[in-house]
Parts: sequence; structure tokens; C-alpha cells
Amino acid sequence: MKNPQLLLESPRLEELQEILLTALSEAGFKPGDDFHIIPLEASTDGPLTDEKRFYLDEMAKLNNDLANMQRTLAKTNVELENLAEIRNRFVGMAAHDLRNPLGIIRSFSEYLKTELKSKIASEQMEIIDTIFSTSVFMQRLIDGILDLSAMQSGKVSLSLQRVDLNELFIKNLNLNRILANQHNIEISCTGPSKILYAEIDATKINQVLNNLIANAIKYSNDGSKIECHLYDEDRKAVFCVKDEGIGISPEDQRRIFEPFHRVSSDNKRGKSVGLGLSIAHNIIDAHKGSFMVQSEEGKGSTFCFSLPISPDKSQSS
Ligand code: ADP
Repeated sequence: MKNPQLLLESPRLEELQEILLTALSEAGFKPGDDFHIIPLEASTDGPLTDEKRFYLDEMAKLNNDLANMQRTLAKTNVELENLAEIRNRFVGMAAHDLRNPLGIIRSFSEYLKTELKSKIASEQMEIIDTIFSTSVFMQRLIDGILDLSAMQSGKVSLSLQRVDLNELFIKNLNLNRILANQHNIEISCTGPSKILYAEIDATKINQVLNNLIANAIKYSNDGSKIECHLYDEDRKAVFCVKDEGIGISPEDQRRIFEPFHRVSSDNKRGKSVGLGLSIAHNIIDAHKGSFMVQSEEGKGSTFCFSLPISPDKSQSS
């Protein structure tokens, strides 16, 4: 071969090319000399010693093992995906079938609560109250399971629209202030200097905001403060909800987005389901946004999420 040129692409191979060319020139080859690259097995230059053969055999065996392991891993991955799909379908169907009878229990107990008020003993009313609140809790749980299983099997279609985020933010805060007022919790807010628009599913983003603010209220003491911020940063809109509540340990911060992970199973403001944050995370992922949490036990938590913003049409035209 004249003027040997090794056409190698990766940086690692370039390194190899250099080593080879140096070795060739050290062996007395000059540019333009003929030379052949001969596989070690077929090399006539040096004898194939037992040691060389041993290492070659070992390498071939390891290579085969690796290829087999890769094949098994790929097969197991496909099996796991199929199992996850079956599980999602099963959970979704079971939850769906439970939803209707639960709805009946809920509305009948609600009816009895109003109809029998002041006609029955307080202990009996307590029983009806318990049936009602338990059915409300179970409906929340089932709705959460249905939402999550639909998301995990990729069946959630976003109904995207160009939305004024400032308006969505203010409307949501006004509704949540009613709930906060009941606990003497003050919600303050700051917004961006210009209107931010994004292509979003407004119902789902409202659900995320509601979850974060409802959690801030749920895990705060009466009389404390909650701050909500909306601002733009690096062509993203960022929503933050900061509370002065019980806070979350670093270990739990890593797990609160897992379905059914609850730090405390019960709290002052109602039973915890442990699905809200997991659903919220899925919704933000589907919008190509991101989620952040900062928290210190006993001091409070800040939950933020970001969404890509659309260009301002008034400026571009
Ligand atoms: P839920 O509130 O129904 O339990 P979430 O998925 O919304 O479900 O929250 C998961 C867990 O994260 C909660 O059980 C709670 O322990 C913790 N958590 C969420 N938000 C806060 C917060 N603002 N302050 C303290 N803990 C929180």
C-alpha cells in the first residue's frame, strides 16, 4: 500500500492512528513505503504464542458474553414495557369500574346529610358524614389513578392553545385565596413586567398550579404566608409557590414525585393521596417544561415549574 492513510474518525481512533504511524516510523518505514496490516492470527512476523492465544480466546469469550447480555437486556426491556402496559390497562379499568358506584355512594350520602340534618342523632349524622368524606377521598384517589395510568401509557393528549399566562395565574390565585382565607393564610404574588404567552393545555396547567397552592396551604400553619411568583427567564415562564410550612427532608424531596409517596399519611387539612405531584410532574414533562423543589424541614418549601414561552406576536409583527 502506497502512502498509507488510515481513515479513522473518532478521536480515540485518531490517537490509535498516531500510535501506529509512530511505531511504523520507528520500525524504519518511511512515507511512501509499502506495508500491510495483518491480523494477529495470520501474522507471520511473530509466532502466535500460547499467551497471545489465551488472551485472544478470553477476549472473544468476553465479547460473546457481552453480546448475549445485551440481547437479554433488550428482551427484558421489551417484556417490562409490555408488563407496564398491561398493569396500566388493568389499573385503569379497575379504577374506572369503581368510579360509578362510588359516585352513587357519594351523592346518596350527601343527600342524606342535607335531608336528615336535625332529624337524627349527632352520632348517626357522624356516620353519614364519614361515609361522605370517605367517598370523596376515594373518588380523588381513583381520579388520580386514572389520570396517572392514562399518562403513563402515553394516552394523554394535550389540548394546546396559546394562553396568556398572567391571566391564568391571577385567576387561579383568586380562587385559591378563598381556600387560604379559611385558614387565615395570606397569599401574595408578583408577576412579570410583560404578558407571557405559551402553547399549553390550560386545564392541565391549572391543575398543576392548584396542586402546588393547595399543598402549600395544606402543609402550612394557620396565619402563615404563601408567596406566588410568575417571571420569565431564558425564554421560559417560571411559576413558583413558596410556603412557610412544615418543609420536606432531603431524602423525601427525592421521592415525593413518585406515585403514592407520602411523607405523612395524615395531616391537619385532610387525608393525603400522594398522587398530585406525580401527575403534576407528568403534565409539565408533557409540556417540555421542568420541575424544581427546594425545601428545609420546619422552615418551608418552594415548588417551581417552567414552561417554554411562545414569541410575543405584538413584537414580532
Ligand atoms: P398529597 O398532597 O395528596 O399527599 P402530593 O403528591 O401532592 O400528594 O404530595 C406528595 C407528598 O409531598 C405529600 O404527602 C407531602 O408529604 C409532601 N408535600 C407536598 N407539598 C408539600 C409542601 N408544600 N410542604 C410540605 N410537604 C409537601
